[in-house]
Amino acid sequence: MSEQQGHDGLSFRQSVDHMVDHAISLMDLKDGMGDALKACHSVLQVSFPVEIDGKAEMFTGWRAVHSDHRLPSKGGIRYAPQVDQDEVEALAALMTYKCAIVDVPFGGSKGGLEIDPRKYTQQQIEAITRRFARELINKGYLSPAKNVPAPDMGTGPKEMGWMTDTYRQLFPNDINYMGSVTGKPVEHGGVRGRNEATGRGVQYALREFFRHQDEVERTGMTGSLKDKAIIVQGLGNVGYHAAHFLQKEDQARIIAIIERDGAVVNPEGLDVAAVHNHIAVQGGVRGYPGGTFEAEGERILELDCDILIPAALEGVIHTDNAPNIKARLIAEAANGPVTFEADRILRERGVEIIPDAYCNAGGVIVSYFEWIRNLAHVRFGRLDKRFHEARGQHIVTAIEMATDTEVPEWVRNELCRGADEFDLVRSGLDDTMRLAFQDIMEKRRTHPEINDYRMAAYVIAIQKIARSYQDIGY
Ligand code: NAD
Repeated sequence: MSEQQGHDGLSFRQSVDHMVDHAISLMDLKDGMGDALKACHSVLQVSFPVEIDGKAEMFTGWRAVHSDHRLPSKGGIRYAPQVDQDEVEALAALMTYKCAIVDVPFGGSKGGLEIDPRKYTQQQIEAITRRFARELINKGYLSPAKNVPAPDMGTGPKEMGWMTDTYRQLFPNDINYMGSVTGKPVEHGGVRGRNEATGRGVQYALREFFRHQDEVERTGMTGSLKDKAIIVQGLGNVGYHAAHFLQKEDQARIIAIIERDGAVVNPEGLDVAAVHNHIAVQGGVRGYPGGTFEAEGERILELDCDILIPAALEGVIHTDNAPNIKARLIAEAANGPVTFEADRILRERGVEIIPDAYCNAGGVIVSYFEWIRNLAHVRFGRLDKRFHEARGQHIVTAIEMATDTEVPEWVRNELCRGADEFDLVRSGLDDTMRLAFQDIMEKRRTHPEINDYRMAAYVIAIQKIARSYQDIGY
C-alpha cells in the first residue's frame, strides 16, 4: 500500500486511525472491537488503458470498502492527481463514521482515480469514467444493492450520470439501476438538492451551532451568523454552496477565499457568486476586482476571522500553521483538513472544531434520499403536494369564515403551498443535521472525559457500529 506521509509524518489514514484510537481510549469496548472497527474490509485496485489522442494511456483507480455491516456501502469517487490507496481507505473509514453519526443506514466506502481531470477534454473524461465504472461493476464494487458511489473532489453530476448509464447498459434487467450511483443529474434520476447538499449541510451545521449560545460563548463569539467574518478555502462544489448560502441567507461576511492560485481578501465581504464566476472564466481568483490578491494562499488560513471553513483538501492545517490559526471556530467542510497533531494544538488553544464526519455529511444524507427515491421510482412530493395545497386552502377558508377577516396574502401563500422535492430534501437535511449536532452536544455535555465535538461524534459513531457488529457478528 502506498502511504503518502502527510505534513506531520502521518498518512491521512493513520491520522484518522489515531483520532479513532483516542475515542476508543475513552470508551469501554470489548477486546478486539477497536481493531475490527478500524480495519478496511476490502480494497480493489484497477489499472486500465484508455485511448487518448490516438495512443493508449494507463489509469489507476481504487475503491475501498471500509465497512459493510449495512448495505449498500456508500461513498464518493474522487478524481485527483494525488489519490492513492491510503487516502481512499482513510476516506472510506470516515464514511463509515459519518453514516453512523447522521443515522444513514449505509456502510462506508470511497473511490479514487489518479488523474488531473483538468488535463482532459469532456469526451476523454467520459471515456475514462465509463471504463473505470465498468471495472468497478465487473468486480462487484458498484451496484444499487452493494456499493453506491457519489461525487467527490473532481467529479460531479456528469460523471455520476455516465457511471449509472454504464451500469444500465451492463444490467438492463435491473429495474433499480438508477440506485447504482447518487449525485446524478436531475434529468437522469438525481434528486433536487443533491448538488448543493454538502455545502447546505455545512450551513445547517453552523446554524444549529449558533442556536446554542452556551456553545457559541465557548468560542468567545456571541450572537448569530450575521456579520461573522468567514474564510473559505476551496470554492468548488462544497465551498461555493456553503459560502454562497451563508452570505445570502445568513448575512455572514466572507472575508477571504483561498483557491489553487492564491487568495482574494476583502474585510468588507466578497461577493461569493461573483468570485465563483471569475474563477469559472479566469481559472483562479487572481485578478478578481473586488478584493486584494495574495499569491501565498495558505497564509490566509492564518488571517484573523471568526470562522474558518476549509473546503478543499486534507491535511491543510498542520503543526506548522495550527499555532497561528486565529479563527475561533473551524467548520471542516473538507474531509480531514486538520491533522491529528494540529487537532491537539487547536484544542489546547481553545479553538472549537465542527468535525468533518458530521460537518460535511450533507452529501451522504441527500444521497440517501436520492437512493430511496430511485428505489421508490417516484419523485418526492409527487403524491401529496396538491393534497396539502388543497388542505391549506380549506384551513384559510375556515379561518376567514370564523373570523370574518381576510387572511393576509403571505399567510395564505405559505399555508396553500404544497412542498416540492427541493423543500422536502432541504427539510430532511436540516432535520438530520440538527438532530446529529444535538446528539454530539449532549454526548460532550454529559461525559466530562470528552472535551471536543470530534471525540463526541466518534464516540457516538463507534457505539452504534460496535452495537451493530455485536448484534450481527463481525
Ligand atoms: P471540488 O473539486 O468541487 O472543489 C475543490 C475546490 O478546491 C476547487 O475549487 C479547487 O480549485 C480547490 N482547491 C484544490 N486545491 C486547492 C488548494 N491547494 N488550495 C485551495 N483550493 C484548492 O471538490 P468538492 O466536491 O467541493 O470537495 C471538497 C472537499 O469536500 C473534499 O475534501 C471532499 O472529500 C469533501 N466532500 C465533498 C462532498 C461532495 O458532496 N462533493 C461530500 C463530502 C465531503
